[in-house]
Amino acid sequence: MKINSICVQGGYTPGNGEPRQIPIVQSTTFKYDTSEDMGKLFDLEASGYFYTRLQNPTNDYVAAKITQLEGGTAGMLTSSGQAANFYALFNICSCGDHIVSSSTIYGGTFNLISVTMKKMGIDVTFVSPDASEEELNAAFRENTRAMFGETIANPALTVLDIEKFAGCAHAHGVPLIIDNTFATPVNCRPFEWGADIVTHSTTKYMDGHGAAVGGAIVDSGRFDWMAHADKYPGLCTPDDSYHGITYTERFGKEGAFITKCTAQLMRDFGSIQSPQNAFILNLGLESLHVRMKRHCENGLAVAEFLSGHEKVAYVNYCGLPGDRYYSLAQKYLPNGSCGVVSFGLKGGREAAGIFMKNLKLAAIETHVADARTCCLNPASSTHRQMTDEQLREAGVPAELIRISCGIEDKDDLIADIAQALNAVCG
Ligand SMILES: *Cc1c(COP(=O)(O)O)cnc(C)c1O
Repeated sequence: MKINSICVQGGYTPGNGEPRQIPIVQSTTFKYDTSEDMGKLFDLEASGYFYTRLQNPTNDYVAAKITQLEGGTAGMLTSSGQAANFYALFNICSCGDHIVSSSTIYGGTFNLISVTMKKMGIDVTFVSPDASEEELNAAFRENTRAMFGETIANPALTVLDIEKFAGCAHAHGVPLIIDNTFATPVNCRPFEWGADIVTHSTTKYMDGHGAAVGGAIVDSGRFDWMAHADKYPGLCTPDDSYHGITYTERFGKEGAFITKCTAQLMRDFGSIQSPQNAFILNLGLESLHVRMKRHCENGLAVAEFLSGHEKVAYVNYCGLPGDRYYSLAQKYLPNGSCGVVSFGLKGGREAAGIFMKNLKLAAIETHVADARTCCLNPASSTHRQMTDEQLREAGVPAELIRISCGIEDKDDLIADIAQALNAVCG
């Protein structure tokens, strides 16, 4: 099946007389005839369900669809994008290890890696997404266990040179983990460019309706853990908490990563997605390919309008010829990037405030990637405690506005932006 068909039909094929839509298995637990039957599941000797914290059929249908969309071999859902990124990294890193990460990543992930995982004894080196191969190579250490970046960074809108990052990661014997939230597999499939693990905040375009927080992890099944067994003892040596199973031996490189992530991390941390949310997520996935096309059309139309406007100082949108990331976007995102555009007003913080106040259709929200257009000026909301200088250093200058173009009519979006810009003096 092609991507468009997988969005609609992937992950679940009903048998004769079975429900057409995926059933919501709203049950915490599953019944067995004998203790021995259940014991086999606990020992990972048979596949099946025993407790929804570890696995649930509804979640598995949706995870299978996302796995198919990314072209991976195994996948799982998590309660949020934050949980997905934490699990993906912590599955292969522990105290004393080190991560190389792109510096332009989602603020929550930046905090997770630089503050919370640091407390667990996991160190990080941040590299510019634009770093040269030599600069990237210099960031690796003996104890590096993973490289991390975002296809299109939220909110910086930088485009990652996935092939270059993957080449460096592999030269140092570690996998590249890519957060593909903004591009979605409709616009970019990082495995085709050498990435090994993909993560998602499904809260964004995949759900797409601002209805359910969620995350996903997909494994390409290509990283050869056994070839670097000294680096990944958790995957390549017996797990005492599972009767001495060695994940790579039992499940191969196609299944070891996700099986360990489910059996250990989900068991111990429990950030499972509720089956209800998985069902809502699947409704979003069924139209992902249709919505992404419109998000991109609207994003480009808005970016073009803004770049020609006299009160606008600059526009960041990789689909715009002349954008710093245009050529990378042509390579990795030939069918479109996403609906998120950022821009700065010549009038600075004050102008941004007036602009925001005058928007009618675009709602002021911290959210992005929703069917409804939403808009944020970090300086007057999420980052309001910072001075202009601090804001500049953080890469969110006072005049910066981020607009996430929804799937409304682009004429209405442009009319709304135009009238809000008219209210700005100057
Ligand atoms: C929102 C977001 C996250 C975090 O996801 P939640 O579902 O909010 O936990 C991670 N990465 C990116 C790129 C995001 O946009």
